[in-house]
Amino acid sequence: MSVREFAERGADLELAGIQKRFPGFTAIEHLDLTIPAGSFFALLGPSGCGKTTTLRLVAGLEEPTSGRILIGGRDVTGTKAHERPVNTVFQSYALFPHMSVLENVAFGLKRRRIGDALGRAHEALRLVELDHLAQRRPAQLSGGQQQRVALARAIVNRPALLLLDEPLGALDLKLRRQMQLELKTIQEEVGLTFLHVTHDQEEAMTMADTVAVMNKGAIEQMGAPAELYELPRTSFVANFLGQSNLFTGNVAGSTDAAISVDIAGARVTVPAARAQRHKGRVTVGVRPEKVTLLREAPAASSDRNVLGPGRVIDVSFSGVSTQYIVAIPDAGTVTVFAQNTGSGPVVGEGVEVWVSWPVEHGFGLDDVAE
Ligand code: ATP
Repeated sequence: MSVREFAERGADLELAGIQKRFPGFTAIEHLDLTIPAGSFFALLGPSGCGKTTTLRLVAGLEEPTSGRILIGGRDVTGTKAHERPVNTVFQSYALFPHMSVLENVAFGLKRRRIGDALGRAHEALRLVELDHLAQRRPAQLSGGQQQRVALARAIVNRPALLLLDEPLGALDLKLRRQMQLELKTIQEEVGLTFLHVTHDQEEAMTMADTVAVMNKGAIEQMGAPAELYELPRTSFVANFLGQSNLFTGNVAGSTDAAISVDIAGARVTVPAARAQRHKGRVTVGVRPEKVTLLREAPAASSDRNVLGPGRVIDVSFSGVSTQYIVAIPDAGTVTVFAQNTGSGPVVGEGVEVWVSWPVEHGFGLDDVAE
């Protein structure tokens, strides 16, 4: 059996108008979501935003207050958990300590009297590159290896959809990064649909092809990782995915090509296609690595924005880059990441500077950050 045939092809998942109320608390306000078959989809958000509840609804461990859940086009809203083509990998691996790795993986198949349980368990273990440890007990494995056994056990019965609830949360940082790459490779090999829940933005961005950022029971923005990073639509997304410099001001003018915004005595331009609002009070953002420091006021230019002068109030060196914090009157503080090219920090604390960024890298938000 080839690796690709090992698991059944992934199925798409559709959540239509889902609401979930608990007594006295609405965990999911309204959720519409379609995850295409074979994709690696991450639900990303802070603690309490409703990620796990969404996963439990898909798994059939909770019932929605309203709305429908379809897997591979089939309505499973009223279907019991064990009848759904879904498996879950949790942070706690929940392996049976008295059984070998092989028995752990084969357990579910044997219990349901599915033929060739051991053959299929070996195949799943080969997929996670652990077949050589099939006779060991879980306690004789490292954390990362136990995680892979849990993964093998979750795919051995060929689900169409795999749910991952912070599966790497118990691992140390280095191992977590390694497992992120491994999980992604395994997902690509088996072609299953993965729905991964995490509060770790770096994890979501490295692994998933699509990320949905959740906040207070609703999805704020969804897209490819680079798309979300380059063009966040709300202040929540701009701050949750990496760092952003946000400035609020009034729109002074707009054309089909761009809007201009008055900020701290300067006029800042944002391409119209990158601005959610084109009039009134708006918040403009730019990522710290897109900003450069200047020692002198630059000549006027239509392709760069400039704010200043301000003063450098903090410099922190971190190997590949240096972070500068610049205080600019009326604009607040601006964070600048500069790549270190070998000559060390170019400006020290207290120095007068201007900050500048290419117009094409700015973005205008849909809400106003005060
Ligand atoms: P975390 O990352 O901390 O696990 P989460 O985003 O997964 O957070 P959920 O576990 O989905 O969040 O919970 C969403 C909200 O619903 C939380 O405020 C939680 O307190 C609430 N909630 C969850 N289960 C119940 C329940 N059975 N009864 C009442 N409220 C609940």
